[in-house]
Amino acid sequence: PIEPWFIGGPVIKGFGRGSKVLGIPTANLPAENFSDVLSEHTSGVYFGWAGLSTRGIYKMVMSIGWNPYFDNTEKTIEPWLLHDFGEDFYGEELRLVIVGYIRPERIHEDARIAEKALNLPLYAKYTDSPYLRNSL
Ligand code: ADP
Ligand code: MG
Repeated sequence: PIEPWFIGGPVIKGFGRGSKVLGIPTANLPAENFSDVLSEHTSGVYFGWAGLSTRGIYKMVMSIGWNPYFDNTEKTIEPWLLHDFGEDFYGEELRLVIVGYIRPERIHEDARIAEKALNLPLYAKYTDSPYLRNSL
C-alpha cells in the first residue's frame, strides 16, 4: 500500500492518446495544477477511486507517464474509470484518490532492450530484407 494522494479538476481534452476507439478512454486532468504532486510519484500504473460530481464514485486505473507531446518534459495522468458511461463527460469535476501502485512504466525499459537487441547480428540481418525497402 502507498500513502494515498488526492487530485482533481475539470476533465479536459487530451491528445487522443488514451483511446476511446480502442475501448480505453482516459479522462485527462489539467496536469499543471499538480505538477508538484506528480513529480513526487514515479511513472507507472496506479489504481484508486474516482468521484464524478454529478454521477457517483467508480473504480479507476491510471497511468502516469512522460508526455511525448511535451518532449517528455511534462507528466500526464490518464485515469480510466472502470465503468461504461456510454457518453463523454468533458468539463465535469473529477476527483481522484490514488491508493495503490501496480507497476512501473515499461515502455522506456522496453525501448532500451530493443535498441540493444537489434544491434545483434541475429536480428540486425533483417535490415537487408527487400521488404523493408519498398514503399508500396
Ligand atoms: P482524450 O484524448 O480527449 O482524453 P480519450 O479517447 O482518452 O480522449 O477519451 C476520454 C474521454 O472519454 C473522457 O474525457 C470522458 O469524457 C470520456 N469517457 C467516457 N467513458 C470514460 C471512462 N470509463 N473513463 C474515462 N473517460 C471516459
Ligand atoms: Mg485521454
